[in-house]
Amino acid sequence: MKYALLDRGDPLSRELAEKFHALASEHGLERSEGTPDIVLSIGGDGTLLHAFHRFRARVDDIAFIGVHTGHLGFYADWQKDELPELVEMIATSEPNKVRYPLIRVEITTRGGTSAYLALNEFTLKCVDGTLVAGIDINDEPFEMFRGDGIVISTPSGSTGYNKSLGGAVIHPSLEALQIAEIASINNRVYRTLGSSVILPKHHHCDIVPDPEEPLYIGIDHLILQMEGVLSIRCSVADDKITFARYRPFPFWHRVREAFIGSDSR
Ligand code: NAP
Repeated sequence: MKYALLDRGDPLSRELAEKFHALASEHGLERSEGTPDIVLSIGGDGTLLHAFHRFRARVDDIAFIGVHTGHLGFYADWQKDELPELVEMIATSEPNKVRYPLIRVEITTRGGTSAYLALNEFTLKCVDGTLVAGIDINDEPFEMFRGDGIVISTPSGSTGYNKSLGGAVIHPSLEALQIAEIASINNRVYRTLGSSVILPKHHHCDIVPDPEEPLYIGIDHLILQMEGVLSIRCSVADDKITFARYRPFPFWHRVREAFIGSDSR
């Protein structure tokens, strides 16, 4: 079993990374930055996003495990005092492989088309002022958006930025994407649905901005500034991310722990 490890870089995450390496070596696990079977992230959900993007070219061959240095996370479901148990399980047992959907984002500029994968969401904002963009669903005009921006999230990303925008929380076993608005302006000229929209895997949406406007494009934590964007197509990707689960960790349990609290009833 070969593993790679990425930590958040703070003293606690670094200390836990060293502890993990020592335990892993005692259990005969081999370190490999190039071709790991398992990628561990130590920090938070944000650290797992970084780990996903570092290894996204090999996403079909890797299973991810997240260790959280604070509260329980959505991707980082092991806690800092559980490292000995985790290493023991990696070395001795076969994990359950859980696969979550990703979003494919194809951005067409005057220079050509480039494709990205997002684990949480794709975000579109205008560099100067409000964003004005047409939104098409399945090649049919749907609405004309004017406002602060658009967030298109995966089911596992639905508890991130999407939730702050009033979007629905979606179970990651559903292959879907969700379009949420950031502060849309609604008047006689610009009219949007106002609620978030959930598309199934066999649908796609295209965003058509003004190509003269410079845009901020967010792919999870990565922000790109682009000019001359002609269209952006979002769809549920054929690729998925795989998590190695050595014990059950139900999604709704995580939602309750994160947003409601276990002693609320
Ligand atoms: P950050 O600003 O350092 O972290 C934002 C927060 O989002 C952190 O508390 C992070 O958890 C949490 N988070 C990440 N993925 C999540 C998920 N799938 N479900 C629930 N919470 C999640 O930024 P970052 O670490 O680079 O992470 C980028 C993410 O931040 C984006 O993908 C977006 O989802 C989120 N974000 C949210 C808002 C908002 O809610 N208004 C605005 C911008 C971005 P940890 O502390 O465990 O890392």
